[in-house]
Amino acid sequence: MSTRKPLIAGNWKMNLNHLEAIALVQKLAFALNDKDFDKVDVAVLPPFVDLRSVQTLVDGDRLRIVYGAQDLSQYDAGAYTGEVSGVMLAKLDCTYVVVGHSERRQYHNEDDDLVNAKVHAALRNSLTPILCVGEGLLVRQEGGQITHCLGQLDGALRKVTAEQAKSIVVAYEPVWAIGTGEVATPEDAQEVCGALRARLAELYDPEVASSVRILYGGSVKSGNIAGIMAQPDVDGALVGGASIDAGEFTKICRFSE
Ligand code: PEP
Repeated sequence: MSTRKPLIAGNWKMNLNHLEAIALVQKLAFALNDKDFDKVDVAVLPPFVDLRSVQTLVDGDRLRIVYGAQDLSQYDAGAYTGEVSGVMLAKLDCTYVVVGHSERRQYHNEDDDLVNAKVHAALRNSLTPILCVGEGLLVRQEGGQITHCLGQLDGALRKVTAEQAKSIVVAYEPVWAIGTGEVATPEDAQEVCGALRARLAELYDPEVASSVRILYGGSVKSGNIAGIMAQPDVDGALVGGASIDAGEFTKICRFSE
């Protein structure tokens, strides 16, 4: 296990309306907000329409849980119907924003240039990007996972300074493991997370590489989190399906107990 403080982030995807969001955060607060539980940073990433409700709850009850969004526009304002800007997310006190999730890349044709523009949009609005990279099944079968993920990392970090890079979070999410029940082995996760960290040292320096938290994501459950977290270059998890089940997400967050 690494010395960086673990981050467990729940990507709710397009699930839960604002009332259901309040109910889930209340349950998580009850299960995770005890003052002794400070070993792990816990974040929820609800749909945009839930964020104001989650903010009110978190602020009002001074909860330790932080929150963020699942995407943002590359622009700060303007005639971009349907988009939500980093300025708006910052105003809601979001901490994180997911950038380059494979579902955005796949269903919304987001390429490395757009992901890079979104990383910059997040950074200029003081949001921490959770930058997702990951290979599809064919690439994995051909053994190209490292080249693929390093290419996505290079593309996403163009013109990002060392100072900015230190604050970002990277999530290795093999596409073949997302929502499929097919989890990468801890060794698979370590192989790519280790290579991503080594690339950060090449792109910047060892200090940046050792500051950045690298998460694993892909069918994480309470039954497999401990093995994944035991890897030296894995600093947490981006959890999809299991994050909207309060009991299961709590167990994942309490993986070390
Ligand atoms: C995700 O959506 O980022 C994810 C990892 O999903 P799941 O945990 O459901 O595979």
